[in-house]
Amino acid sequence: MSELQELCRTFSSKASHTRVSTTRPVRCWTEKDRLDGSVVDAFVVIFATRGCSWAQRSGCTMCGYGNDSAGTAVSAADLEQQLQTALRDYHGEPLVKIFNSGSFLDEDEIPLPARKALLSAFTNATKISVESRPEYVTEKTLMHIQEILGARQFEIGIGLETANDVVRDKAINKGFSFAQYKTAASLLKKHRVSVKTYVLVKPPFLTEHEALEDTLETIRAVAPMTDIISLNPVNVQRHTLVEHLWHRDEYRPPWLWTLVDALHHGHQLFSGHLKCDVVAGGSQRGPHNCGSCDHDVLTAISDFSLHQDPSVFTPLSCSCREQWRDQCAYENLTYGSVVDWSRWKA
Ligand code: SF4
Ligand SMILES: [Zn+2]
Repeated sequence: MSELQELCRTFSSKASHTRVSTTRPVRCWTEKDRLDGSVVDAFVVIFATRGCSWAQRSGCTMCGYGNDSAGTAVSAADLEQQLQTALRDYHGEPLVKIFNSGSFLDEDEIPLPARKALLSAFTNATKISVESRPEYVTEKTLMHIQEILGARQFEIGIGLETANDVVRDKAINKGFSFAQYKTAASLLKKHRVSVKTYVLVKPPFLTEHEALEDTLETIRAVAPMTDIISLNPVNVQRHTLVEHLWHRDEYRPPWLWTLVDALHHGHQLFSGHLKCDVVAGGSQRGPHNCGSCDHDVLTAISDFSLHQDPSVFTPLSCSCREQWRDQCAYENLTYGSVVDWSRWKA
């Protein structure tokens, strides 16, 4: 195990599981999303499981999902009980997004009988969406899911984070390669499963400008392989390396202007659905600007994510945009970059 992997393990092992019940879902809610080109209601549920297998061995530098997992085995019977609770809030939304703070396809997190129960339950759904690391995307698993879902639409989100293997390895500690993502994405295409790719905006150790470049390079690289690109700007989660750096003033979450630029330019590079879900926006732990323009910029980002119209960004202005531009222009010169990431373009 590398030093970074061991360091991440020390943070992920501190995750607190005490508030997570094995028989109730962590949360469920309804939100707007896009489906087949229209804006629809989406039902979102986070099931409590044992947690991500990678987080138990080491974990990603920014991920505090361990705080939302049980940390102990959750049986199929427990998951079916969670499902019954979640179904009380389900009102036939056509898009159902199932999260489990890890990999839905990992049988150690979601045992096979629970996989079947969870996928079969939302009978009114046109499309079901789950998440998985690429190593669990196999021919056998996809055939099993197709038997359960029949002709219904299915989507798998993969947290690729970046197309740059060095950034993913040294700044994110993701534990898989771009080649593994590509193999999984082509298998999903073969089985007509929709591919959603998560791209992390501003991993630690990258300057603001490098983060923007890395995001755009990644959008360019994955555009032919994915149906949806979801930008995930870092927010500072508990018990993570990112939180440790943030406490020492060695990490700042991305500016909202970085997200605006990434969406605006990314839209020209990718013809599929490009979106950005901002968590903790406007707070010190989340992506933020100066404080006075944050609300307007966040509204434009969520409008763009739903309607795909980049003109929502045109009216945005604030004096802090100059400060952001200056940071992008001079940060590498004044503080230097820890690593010359540009040497490893995707
Ligand atoms: S980001 Fe995903 S793969 Fe990484 S530790 Fe968190 S749940 Fe696991
Ligand atoms: Zn501002």
